[in-house]
Amino acid sequence: MKRSARAIIDTSALRHNLRRCREVAPNSLAMAVIKANAYGHNMLKTAETLNNANGFAVSCIPEALELRQARFIHPILVLQGFNTQQDLKAAAEHRLRVVIHDRQQLDLLDSARPSIKIDAALKLDTGMHRLGLPIEQARNLFERLGKHPNIKPTPWLMTHMACADEPGNRHTQAQLERFAKYTEGLQAPRSIGNSASILGWPQTHVNWVRPGIMLYGSSPFMDGNHKEDGLQAAMTLTAPLISIHTIAKGESIGYGASWTCPEDTRTGVVAIGYADGYPRHAPSGTPVWLNGKETRILGRVSMDMVVIDLTAIDARIGDQVELWGKHISVDRVARTAGTIGYELLCNAGNLCQHEYT
Ligand SMILES: *Cc1c(COP(=O)(O)O)cnc(C)c1O
Repeated sequence: MKRSARAIIDTSALRHNLRRCREVAPNSLAMAVIKANAYGHNMLKTAETLNNANGFAVSCIPEALELRQARFIHPILVLQGFNTQQDLKAAAEHRLRVVIHDRQQLDLLDSARPSIKIDAALKLDTGMHRLGLPIEQARNLFERLGKHPNIKPTPWLMTHMACADEPGNRHTQAQLERFAKYTEGLQAPRSIGNSASILGWPQTHVNWVRPGIMLYGSSPFMDGNHKEDGLQAAMTLTAPLISIHTIAKGESIGYGASWTCPEDTRTGVVAIGYADGYPRHAPSGTPVWLNGKETRILGRVSMDMVVIDLTAIDARIGDQVELWGKHISVDRVARTAGTIGYELLCNAGNLCQHEYT
């Protein structure tokens, strides 16, 4: 299905952002997180672009298998690990490093065939309370895995931070202290940091870092600015103007008639809407970019259209409007729409046609 909205992906920005990760965490190996179709940037193309990463991280086994089928030989970390004997077999055959985060996985391992040997990462819950085994049991579990006939030496030790996007946050401090205390002396590669940790918490730069959102040029911080973080926007979301009108003072625009023109207003209709992943919650005033100028949306976002203000903008039908990208940061749009850049990139990136530059 070809619609007119396009996500244009700048490969040099992706590469720049990986270099930025290495500059900030020079003593760590970087595992590029390319789950969810590389946050909407296309997993295989992103992997190709970032093929000098030290490894890749994905959520699930099928994503990892797609990478192997495309002949990527890098280390691959599977963040949600395995749930069946079949997963275990695939992990062994395709040399995947699978995360062990739940007791049920230990039972599966205990009943695995002797021929199965996997690389593992022991995920410890230090306070995020999503995936992970209790940090207090780190030593026992590590020793149990170390002796396990189905596990290759040496399992990694891993944890994940809940609040790294808030500089100085105490919860992060407490999580780091717990991780250090309970894993002290264990001889294993460690991995703690996502993008917010990489950019904001140097203590998390252990053997491996796990950059995700920063690779795509969106700031991981709550009120962040990707330029201040030294990042470049990788995705530009564009769609063409398909109609231009002048709407009379006092008339209103779009569903719900939620925006009323305070004076005669020149408007343009852009061929993008929530069916393309542009957020329906973006209110009147959300910024867009057209012909060298910033302007804004007016009224509600529809399924395949949005109306913008053309006051003081020289525009014609067919001109391309930037919804986010080089001029309007996805983080700014996300904040205006009450969400985060991650969600917008995943949604629009996975619904729109891609173009690589
Ligand atoms: C998604 C994910 C990452 C990457 O997070 P970003 O915030 O996008 O950098 C790292 N580690 C784990 C466990 C994840 O699930």
